[in-house]
Amino acid sequence: MEIITTSAGKKRLAHNGFVYTKKKTSKSTKRWECSQRVAKSCKGAVVTNINMTTINSTTSHSHEGDKFHVEAMELREDKRNKECIGKPVSASVIFAMMNKKKETRL
Ligand SMILES: [Zn+2]
Repeated sequence: MEIITTSAGKKRLAHNGFVYTKKKTSKSTKRWECSQRVAKSCKGAVVTNINMTTINSTTSHSHEGDKFHVEAMELREDKRNKECIGKPVSASVIFAMMNKKKETRL
């Protein structure tokens, strides 16, 4: 499970190739719904504890998880990649940036 903060300051949760957006916060839990809820008519959701450290329950998706979709979103939300914020990102741009990212890690 990974928490991503978008450029708009919103939290996203990435887990098993799915991306979730925060819906409801109760006293002890947070509910997250699949980011492809509308696009794929998906009812996938997870409930985490309030600190977002453990997943309490999951609801299955109408589609497969997509690691590439998660990576693309992470890159888009990465403030270091300013050139792509708010713009559609093509696969070739993403691959170029993934390589760049790897290089800076070395
Ligand atoms: Zn889904």
